[in-house]
Amino acid sequence: MTSSMWRPAAETMPRAELHALQWRKLAAQLDHVYASSAFYRARMDAAGCRPHEVAGLADYFARFPLLERSELIAAEQTAPPYGSLAAVDPRLAITRHQTSGSSGQPPIRTFDTARDWAWVADMFATGLYALGIRPGDQVAVVFGYGMFIGFWAGHYGLQRIGATPIPTGAFDTEQRIRLLCEEDVSAVLCTPTYALRMAQKARELGVDLATETRVELLVVTGEPHPRRTRDLIETAWGARVGEVAGMTEAGTLLMFECGPGAPGLHVIETDVIEEVLDPDTREPVGYGERGVRVMTTLGRESVTMLRYWTNDFVVRRPHDGCACGRTWDYYEGGLLGRADDVRKIRGCLFTPAMIEDVARSFPEIVEFQTVLDTVGALDTLIITVEPDERTPGDALARRFGAEVKRAVGVTPIVRIGEPGSLPRFEMKAKRFRDVRANGE
Ligand SMILES: [Zn+2]
Repeated sequence: MTSSMWRPAAETMPRAELHALQWRKLAAQLDHVYASSAFYRARMDAAGCRPHEVAGLADYFARFPLLERSELIAAEQTAPPYGSLAAVDPRLAITRHQTSGSSGQPPIRTFDTARDWAWVADMFATGLYALGIRPGDQVAVVFGYGMFIGFWAGHYGLQRIGATPIPTGAFDTEQRIRLLCEEDVSAVLCTPTYALRMAQKARELGVDLATETRVELLVVTGEPHPRRTRDLIETAWGARVGEVAGMTEAGTLLMFECGPGAPGLHVIETDVIEEVLDPDTREPVGYGERGVRVMTTLGRESVTMLRYWTNDFVVRRPHDGCACGRTWDYYEGGLLGRADDVRKIRGCLFTPAMIEDVARSFPEIVEFQTVLDTVGALDTLIITVEPDERTPGDALARRFGAEVKRAVGVTPIVRIGEPGSLPRFEMKAKRFRDVRANGE
């Protein structure tokens, strides 16, 4: 059993020991940021949460101020790139990353020291090893190798295990497919969207990924995706999908599936403390209840997240609901969408994932985009779908519109896009925009 674990002692640590370890690490982290981060020192002074004033984990959960994304950005903007947040001299950085930034907001920028980066890689190794990657494996790493963190940490996590990352940054989709056909590549790291895009491109090229490549595993991350999307990927590739999840603010992966049939994503609880709170009251919710995850990172000296409000919806389950033997709790079904993507449309709760779920049940739909706009004073979904070249648009638009109405409760306007007209994505698909005057 433990042979499938990268860090067996940590992954099977009894819960009481785990909580004691979390508190020891957190206490050290509080000392460190209070001494070295102007941002955190001011917050902790104001909240009466100086290191000696926080009595333990329960006191921390009850009183330490939540940290919002807007506060992070504001702290960085006081003196770009890293502002008052960093707790070590940025000249000690050996990496730097930033988010793409959206709707006029500045990006979140972050860096790692050499010590941080060793932790970051080990976190990824923990997840990749659980999914079955072993020394000697050739693994295609599919993303742009730019400023976005993407799979940077995955690249180094693979090396840490003893596998070979193949950096396909400068390859286009066709070159990536040729590589998989020609070489003994057993796994691919990519987003769910890009796994589907490669499958589409392979079909155009007359390549059957299931029989003409030796890929057995796709490690996906970066986007919440419905079960249907995963089924489509597994069928097209004739390979298993395993999921990991992290975020730029943490610098690495924080949770992972433990193998085939995993009920969710185990949180690496020795290295990150996760709480789940009600999005409205911000009080803790129990096991099995949907809430927003709030994270505290324990492994980086450069930039630390203390009670960071992630906006990710999750449902937490106790560890023993999974048969793998790990003592780390898991999020059932992974990340379930973002709290800031939820809208109320004519009284119906809406999330963009609902449209994806419907779209993935239409194999003839190649790509889609959803816009929420005001039409004649009514909130209205305008969905553009791009069918494959064989499918006539009119009938498809009618059937698709009816399915969306059934799933969401409101009738959308469905438009048919020309082949190739909608954007394609390598990382972080953006398929939803709220363009109402009071939207976003
Ligand atoms: Zn498990």
